[in-house]
Amino acid sequence: MSRFLQVVPVAEAVNAAKRIAPGRNVETVPVELSAGRILARSVPADTDIPGFDRSVVDGYAVRSADTAGAGPSSPALLRCLGRIAMGAPDPAIVLHEGECTYIPTGGVLPQGADAAVMVEYTEEAGDTILVKKPASHGENVLLHNEDFSKGETVFVPGRRLTPQDAGVLAACGCAEVPVAKKPVIGIISTGNELVPAGTRPGPGQVRDANAPMLAAWLAEYGCIPRLYGIVRDERAAFEAVIARALPECDVVILSGGSSKDDRDMTAGVIAARGEVIIHGIALAPGKPTIIGRIGSTPVFGLPGHPASAFVVLIAIVRPFLDAMLGLNNTRLRTVKATLSQNVPSQRGREEYIRVRVENRIATPLFGKSGLLNTLVKSDGLICVPAGTEGLEQGSEVEVILW
Ligand code: AMP
Ligand code: MG
Repeated sequence: MSRFLQVVPVAEAVNAAKRIAPGRNVETVPVELSAGRILARSVPADTDIPGFDRSVVDGYAVRSADTAGAGPSSPALLRCLGRIAMGAPDPAIVLHEGECTYIPTGGVLPQGADAAVMVEYTEEAGDTILVKKPASHGENVLLHNEDFSKGETVFVPGRRLTPQDAGVLAACGCAEVPVAKKPVIGIISTGNELVPAGTRPGPGQVRDANAPMLAAWLAEYGCIPRLYGIVRDERAAFEAVIARALPECDVVILSGGSSKDDRDMTAGVIAARGEVIIHGIALAPGKPTIIGRIGSTPVFGLPGHPASAFVVLIAIVRPFLDAMLGLNNTRLRTVKATLSQNVPSQRGREEYIRVRVENRIATPLFGKSGLLNTLVKSDGLICVPAGTEGLEQGSEVEVILW
């Protein structure tokens, strides 16, 4: 077998990953806890919203025709019939010509009225109200069904819900929201040199940065990370931890040991129990990446360098998760910026460069792939497409913000 990786284009790897994405499960959550979750079904308005014509100002409900031509020196004089109470429409109040009622914001517009005048443009003189500004038909009034009509689709499935959405869902009568169940993602760090974050590294040792990083990102993205600690580069240890993770997880992600060196165990262990679908992606950093499956569980092998693992997470695992969750508005936070210098790149591979962005200028942070500091100093990534030899200074780039 060749010692070199057979790389495939990023798009092919993404498609392969999407094809093995398990279907999503659905659960319901209280609407107040729905923000950040992925809506699993469409949601219609269960009533007309609003269900009645209502004032959007504090003032007087009027018949607009009665206020035609009104001005500060020629006010319309209207007889006030009383006050509209909130949440309690009074069918007895009907406006006839020359009449008005006091109405608070949100009050039900009484019969006969077709507009509201802000209190600021009125003056009280006993039972008479001086209206100093004409109101047009419908002015300061939210009409019955103007927001949503009963049965109208307000939300389509696949949307990542926002706090604002939670408010609108509640208004639509959705106290419980059907959302994609959070997938459980097993995380395994591999390498004889690794020690946990709480340990001082001895000679030749490094702290496990990947597991916390992957877990933090996955949790933020809407998954439940499940950490299996550090496994040594020993076949039996690898197999034992994978056997433990498989029944407990929807997806398993390993980091480290994903290349083709003798000590790289990941591909061999996946192949022994399942299939390695892709081993090697035309992606930099991130070339030694594995996409495989054991039974029906997708298994990813990410490179050990944290920055490489992170790029693979964004470029490959993210679209896979989107497919799994049924997410259709990924809403990657991006910003357009001008490149401060040339970025050379090798044709034939998609390259991700960390950049700092200031005043819409993107400055690439070049550095050896093992460095951690570029992860902290950068604001995001730019992608140099596979078919080019780089990007020129002054060109406009889209930065995927962290
Ligand atoms: P590997 O992919 O196993 O060949 O590892 C490549 C490099 O990444 C080595 O220098 C490892 O020490 C380092 N590395 C591997 N896993 C981790 C990890 N979980 N955290 C930090 N560095 C790692
Ligand atoms: Mg290793």
